[in-house]
Amino acid sequence: MALSETNEATNPLGLVFTNRFTSSTPADPMPANQRRQVHGSCFSRVTPTATTAPVLIAHSPEVAAMVGLSPEQVASEAFVDIFNGNRVTADMDPFAMCYGGHQFGNWAGQLGDGRAIALGEVRTPDGEHLTLQLKGSGPTPYSRGGDGLAVLRSSVREFLCSEAMFHLGVPTTRALSLTDTGDMVMRDMFYDGNPAPEHGAVVCRVAPSFLRFGSFQLFPTRDDLDTLRTLVDFTITTDFAHLAESGENHQSGSDHQSDRAIVAWVNEIVRTTAELMVHWMRVGFVHGVMNTDNLSILGLTIDYGPYGWLEGFDPDWTPNTTDASGRRYRYGNQPSVAHWNLVQFANAIAPLLDDVAPLQDAIDRFGQLFTDGWNAMMAERLGFASFHGETDNDLFGELGRILQLTETDMTIFHRRLGDVDVDGAATATDADLVAPIAEAWYGEPKGDALAETARWIRRWAQRIAQETQSTEERVAQMKRVNPKYVLRNWMAQLAIDRANDGDYAGVSDLLDLLRFPYDEQPEHEAEWFVKRPEWARERAGCSMLSCSS
Ligand code: AMP
Ligand code: MG
Repeated sequence: MALSETNEATNPLGLVFTNRFTSSTPADPMPANQRRQVHGSCFSRVTPTATTAPVLIAHSPEVAAMVGLSPEQVASEAFVDIFNGNRVTADMDPFAMCYGGHQFGNWAGQLGDGRAIALGEVRTPDGEHLTLQLKGSGPTPYSRGGDGLAVLRSSVREFLCSEAMFHLGVPTTRALSLTDTGDMVMRDMFYDGNPAPEHGAVVCRVAPSFLRFGSFQLFPTRDDLDTLRTLVDFTITTDFAHLAESGENHQSGSDHQSDRAIVAWVNEIVRTTAELMVHWMRVGFVHGVMNTDNLSILGLTIDYGPYGWLEGFDPDWTPNTTDASGRRYRYGNQPSVAHWNLVQFANAIAPLLDDVAPLQDAIDRFGQLFTDGWNAMMAERLGFASFHGETDNDLFGELGRILQLTETDMTIFHRRLGDVDVDGAATATDADLVAPIAEAWYGEPKGDALAETARWIRRWAQRIAQETQSTEERVAQMKRVNPKYVLRNWMAQLAIDRANDGDYAGVSDLLDLLRFPYDEQPEHEAEWFVKRPEWARERAGCSMLSCSS
C-alpha cells in the first residue's frame, strides 16, 4: 500500500489549518507507522494510505458550508482526493490519537485511533475550530490486529446517522463526506470464519474535538501524570475556554489549570453526558458499544458502529451481537453505563487534585441531572408545559409498561399521540380513542393491550386538561420533540444494498429525508413512516450488527 505524498505547501481548497492539538500536546517521537505501545504522547503523526479510485458517494451540504467549502469545491477533484487521504498538503498535520479505555467493563489498555487519521484542525469562516478526521484511511500505530480500513456498509451507517442525529437535535460528531475508495476489503462480518470482500470506504468526520474519556484514562495507568496534566490543560483552554483560568487566577507558581477549573470541567462533562443520554432515550438510539473510549469529552455521540434504533419498544434491546449475552449496552441501560463511564473518567482525573471530594460530588450529580432531564423531556413529548411529579411520575412509568404489552413502535406511537382527540377521550369507545396510535402496533394488540392503552390515554387526557396551552400549540410542541423520521436499521440497509451495487441515490435520498425529521413530508410517509418490515426482523444489518466494520 502506498502512502500519500506531501508535495504542495497549502491545500487547494483554501482550508485554514491551525493544528492546535498537534502543536500543543506531546507527539510520539517515533516516526515509523508500526503497531506498538506509544508512551508519553497524545498522538502519532501518520500519513493516510492512498486509495485506488476514490468516488464521492455523498456529502453533507451543511457541514461543507460550516468548514467554508462551496458547492463547486465539493464537486472538485481536489475534494475527493483530500477527503480520501490521497492528497496531503504541508499545511495539514495528519495524526492518530493515543487513548485507552474500558471495553465491556474491563480495562483494555492502549486502544487509540486504529483506523482514523485526522488531517488536522481547521479554523472555519465563523472562527470555530474543527478537526477533520478520515475514518478508514489505513493503518496507524494503534491498529493492533486490524487493517485500518472501513467498509461501505458501516461507512454509510456512520455518515447517515451522524447527520440524522444532528438534525434531530442530538449532539454528535458530524460527517462531511462519504467516499468509496475503489479498493476491496476483506471482512468476516459475523466472526464465523467466512470472510468476504467488501467495498472500502472513507468517511470524513468533523468535530471540535475527538477526545474521549479514554484519552485521559491511559496516562495515569502508566503513572504519566505529566502528559495527563498537559492534555487536561490543553482541553480546558481550547474546548472549555469559558472555564479556563489564566494569569492571576492561576494557583500561585503554576501555569496549570487550577483544581477549581478542573472540577468545573468535570461537572460540565457530567452535565453534557446526562443531556446526551436524555436525547438518546428520546429518539430511541442505542449506541451499542458504550466503551469509555467511545464517549466524547464534549458530550457528543461518537463512533457509530453496531448502533441501532429502537423500533418495537423494548428497554432490553441491544443491536450489538457481541453484546447479546450480557446486554450491557441495551437501550434502557445506557444512562447507568454513562454514569459508570463517568466514574472511570473521574478516577483518571483524580490524581491531579489535592481533594477528590468535589470530583465525587460532580459524579454523584449525574443521577439527578439525568432524572430531571428525562422528566422534562417526557413532559415535553407528552405535551405538558412542565413536569409535575405528583401525576407525571406514575404516568411515565405506566407508559413504559403499556408500550410493552404488545409490540409497539416507539417512534410512531409518540408521533401519533398528538393526533388523539383529547377532548372526546371521556366518551369515545376504546377502539376510536386509540385509532390514531393503532398503526404503531405490530398486528392485533395482544391481551388487554387495547383496553389498557385506552385507559392510559384517558389519564393522559385528564392531565392535558390541566394545561393552559391551546391544542394547536400542544400538538406543535409534541411534533417538535417526537420525530417522524429516524434512521431505522432497515432503511440504512436498503441504502447499503443499493450502494454496494454502485447506486448511491439511496444514500442521498435518506440524507434528504433525515435533514427534516420533524417535518410531515407526506410524500415520504408511505415509504418511511412505517414499522419494520417482516423481512428485516432477522436480517443481518437490521436487527443484528457486529463490531466487524
Ligand atoms: P470501536 O469499538 O469500534 O470503537 O473500536 C475499538 C478499537 O479498535 C479502536 O481503537 C479502533 O480504532 C480499533 N479498530 C476497529 N476497527 C479497526 C480496523 N479495521 N483496523 C484497525 N483498528 C480498528
Ligand atoms: Mg471507538
